[in-house]
Amino acid sequence: MRGVIMHSAGDVRVEERDEPTILEPTDAIIRLSASCICGSDLWPYRGAEPVDHTPMGHEYVGVVTEVGDAVRNVKVGDFVVGSFFASDNTCEICRAGYQTHCVHRQPGAATGAQSEYCRIPLADGTLVATPGHPDPELIPSLLAASDVLGTGWFAAVAAEAGPGKTVAVVGDGAVGLLGILAAKELGAERIIAMSRHADRQALAREFGATDIVEERGDAGVAAIKALTNGLGAHSVIEAVGTQESMMQAIRATRPGGHVGYVGVSHDVSLDGLDLFFSGVHLHGGPAPVRRFLPELIQLIWDRKIDPGKVFDLSLPLEEAAEGYRAMDERRAIKVLLTIG
Ligand SMILES: [Zn+2]
Repeated sequence: MRGVIMHSAGDVRVEERDEPTILEPTDAIIRLSASCICGSDLWPYRGAEPVDHTPMGHEYVGVVTEVGDAVRNVKVGDFVVGSFFASDNTCEICRAGYQTHCVHRQPGAATGAQSEYCRIPLADGTLVATPGHPDPELIPSLLAASDVLGTGWFAAVAAEAGPGKTVAVVGDGAVGLLGILAAKELGAERIIAMSRHADRQALAREFGATDIVEERGDAGVAAIKALTNGLGAHSVIEAVGTQESMMQAIRATRPGGHVGYVGVSHDVSLDGLDLFFSGVHLHGGPAPVRRFLPELIQLIWDRKIDPGKVFDLSLPLEEAAEGYRAMDERRAIKVLLTIG
């Protein structure tokens, strides 16, 4: 089969690889219908995380081609969506809705999802079958549910977005944009997108943003306060993971408000005294996408949301290297890789 290998920072190749096989009775093998490149794949691409001949990709939708003897909830031929962490969905942590912290957690697509086939561990707890085989135009949205939509949704839930709330969103990548969509669906009254890119601002508005703030840092915080009677937002979504974005999120939140942080943290350190006097709630981390998948799949299936719009570039798997370049250079918000 063909699959993406990142040899080293900046060196992405599509190569002939062995097809994955069932290793554990709880495994499933899927044939991918589409895959995509994640903002977090750019960290190793830019040398900010170690990488050495690593199979890439952790977002996936596809058709089950083989299951282990112990798999009961999905069967060969099912169209499935799963999360970037595999979980049993039965332990106490999973049942509380934190499947990304499952006591049996492991990578959801360890063999790499930017490829034709992938092995999914703990298939019963990880994969959710769609009501039938989707129309092709639903596939981008279902793929978005696998990570960026589920992550943006968790961020909005963690930030307690809801009726009567003003929500600010730090980060205009796919997760931030889908955090806007989630905040809208959860009933937020006002949604402030922090973005300085016209194309992303337009999509933010389409997903439900009511205001745009272009400033960053101190000026960005001041702009949020100016829009909220000097108080700050009730709910702030942090979808970047840098020191600047995290501080911007915390400082843009009113006392008693909530920060939902889902940008993978890179060299962020928080001053204890600043945090103490901020009076804000912080909740976040790797999103338990699995918690939200049944609901998100149904919303997509019923065509009530269209998160697939975050894919603004579609390329064949063979051109994955160009996809990485386009995202690295911010020529694309998110790249979909077509397979087969
Ligand atoms: Zn579990």
